[in-house]
Amino acid sequence: MPTKTAKILILGGGFGGLFTALDLAGAGEITLVSDEDHFTFKPMLYEYLSGEVEAWHIAPNYSELLDDARVIRGSVSSIDFEARRVTIEERSALLDYDVLVLALGATTNYWGVEGAEQFTLPFRTISDANHLRRRMTEALDGVPPDAAPQDTKAALTFAIVGGGASGVELSTKMADLLRDAVKRRALHGEPRVIIVEMTDRLVPGMGQEIRDHVDRALEEYRVEAHTLTRVVRVTPDALTLEHNGRETEIGAAGVVWVAGVRVNPLIENLNIEKDKRGLILADPTLQVRGRKNVFALGDVTFYPDIVPTLAGTAQLALQQSHLCARNIRAYLDGGELSTKHFVELGEAVSLGTQHAAVLTGGKVMGGPLARQARFAMYTARLPTWHHRLRVGASWFFEGTQPRPLQPLGF
Ligand SMILES: Cc1cc2nc3c(=O)[nH]c(=O)nc-3n(C[C@H](O)[C@H](O)[C@H](O)COP(=O)(O)OP(=O)(O)OC[C@H]3O[C@@H](n4cnc5c(N)ncnc54)[C@H](O)[C@@H]3O)c2cc1C
Repeated sequence: MPTKTAKILILGGGFGGLFTALDLAGAGEITLVSDEDHFTFKPMLYEYLSGEVEAWHIAPNYSELLDDARVIRGSVSSIDFEARRVTIEERSALLDYDVLVLALGATTNYWGVEGAEQFTLPFRTISDANHLRRRMTEALDGVPPDAAPQDTKAALTFAIVGGGASGVELSTKMADLLRDAVKRRALHGEPRVIIVEMTDRLVPGMGQEIRDHVDRALEEYRVEAHTLTRVVRVTPDALTLEHNGRETEIGAAGVVWVAGVRVNPLIENLNIEKDKRGLILADPTLQVRGRKNVFALGDVTFYPDIVPTLAGTAQLALQQSHLCARNIRAYLDGGELSTKHFVELGEAVSLGTQHAAVLTGGKVMGGPLARQARFAMYTARLPTWHHRLRVGASWFFEGTQPRPLQPLGF
């Protein structure tokens, strides 16, 4: 198949899809389909929530990033591997392909908990972060200036379900923002932020040294950690926790659900080999088993040759995108496809709006310097040199201080 005319169709414009498209420039007729008009650098969604970064920094429009690809905004509704065609919701035309890339990512897993999908806030997109920020502001706006401390606390109770890195980053960021707003508005009392985790510890996948920084930050921002605790029910204004067989209901102005992910529902219905969690079983070349012209990467795929903590991360999807693009070129040219062992590039958690903990080169550092290091690490991983330079310059010259939770309409 002549490379230049090959139709390469990429489904999903996240870490896996976008970076594959960028690496494939000039390899064929590339089309990228995404249900959003922008990429999202999810590891910095917490900084977007706090206003430390702006949407254009971490969620640039595809049109600014991709010169060589056609971008179609729409939701993929079905894939026909035999006819080599894809259907997009509310579009009559079908998309043909010679090579297909599956990079549709994951979605929030509510584990069937009563009321969770209906009443909790997810945290995966720019719009999710906007909703959460608004919810916090509305809760603050509802506290009368003369409210007693216990009433302030009740009105400003937020729960985060899931004690992984997301839960820790979100809870410290929210606690910091809310405490700052309480002070600025001269309210009496303080907010209450709780984090709920089923296992016996928070951030279980991380090393002890980084966890020490996490523990100190939780203490500093007074985040209440409820480990060995399960959420059994969520209602519009409360959640019920179960610990040691005892149930307790806690009123909450907002419950954020970051307690796990599941594979994109579209993948669930595809007739290809998957593991018991529904992840696509890809060959070490990233080709879907039995379909040489279909590649899969990122959160939709089970890829065995990795350090286990890399599963379900942007780090993995990003590294895989380079292998994926290289192998697509080799496939089209009739060359030999490669495989790769993927390793961890480092760990970084933001802790409140002024601190972070970073593990890089085997060393852990914390505090404001680690926050700067995290910004530097992430600048280097943003898509395209042009975007990195613009964002780096903006952070350097304009700063990265948080935007306080001002009253609505202020
Ligand atoms: C808040 C948050 C923080 C995170 N922090 C980190 C971190 O610090 N470090 C780290 O390594 N990982 C982190 N992750 C995980 C990381 O973001 C994912 O592992 C990574 O994005 C996976 O890449 P992907 O390409 O598989 O999926 P995604 O990046 O999620 O991309 C999937 C794309 O497909 C699109 N899509 C989905 N369904 C459809 C459809 N039907 N039709 C069309 N388009 C569709 C989506 O809009 C999206 O653009 C974080 C995740 C979240 C949510």
